[in-house]
Amino acid sequence: MAAKPTIIAFDADDTLWHNERFFKISQDRFAQLLLPYTEPDHLSERLIAAERRNLGRYGYGIKGFMLSMIETAIEVTDQQIPAAVISDLLAVGQDMLAHPIDLFPGVVDVIAQVSQNHQVLLITKGDLLDQERKLAQSGIGDHFDGVEIVSEKQPATYAKIFAGYGVAPQRAMMIGNSMKSDVLPALAIGAWGIHVPFDLTWALEHAEKPENQPRFRELSKLTELPDLLGEIEL
Ligand SMILES: [Mg+2]
Repeated sequence: MAAKPTIIAFDADDTLWHNERFFKISQDRFAQLLLPYTEPDHLSERLIAAERRNLGRYGYGIKGFMLSMIETAIEVTDQQIPAAVISDLLAVGQDMLAHPIDLFPGVVDVIAQVSQNHQVLLITKGDLLDQERKLAQSGIGDHFDGVEIVSEKQPATYAKIFAGYGVAPQRAMMIGNSMKSDVLPALAIGAWGIHVPFDLTWALEHAEKPENQPRFRELSKLTELPDLLGEIEL
């Protein structure tokens, strides 16, 4: 098959399938497990602060989150947290690494439809092994012309990926739930950036909506994508 000259790229977590809700459940379990040992006030802020501080060391994903939970538990209890609780925290993370894949409604049809006329990519960050597992379990891997699991989503990340497929940024589109990681860096290199907001967003992914960006669009759900592609010229 000759390469198609356009790219439609999708984020995975909370764009194609549920993700953040598993982090939310785990944060609640974290708070419950620490309840006997510390004041609950500011616990979630302390955990987010640890995640932010550790991003550069551990990268995105569940393993880094597990280490940040443990670090916070040690910190907020002045190193008094029992090993049994550390063990429970590890189990919380391991449960997350085994959670089943729950695709958003219509995802399979949208990807299948879009892939008829465009090269379709999956671009996701997180733990390599975990993202590979989720993609395999999702059953939609065969629809993608390429899968890119990256450590960070910067403008240069997208520029390099699109160039690798021989497509100019102006003919590429990135779709995702994160304004900060999916939309803004794609717009920054002249690609389309399509925001599909999801009601749970990790604090570290927050960013303001861009202004005066002709290649920015917002969809209320992914199933609106084929109509958008019918309206615009890539
Ligand atoms: Mg996402």
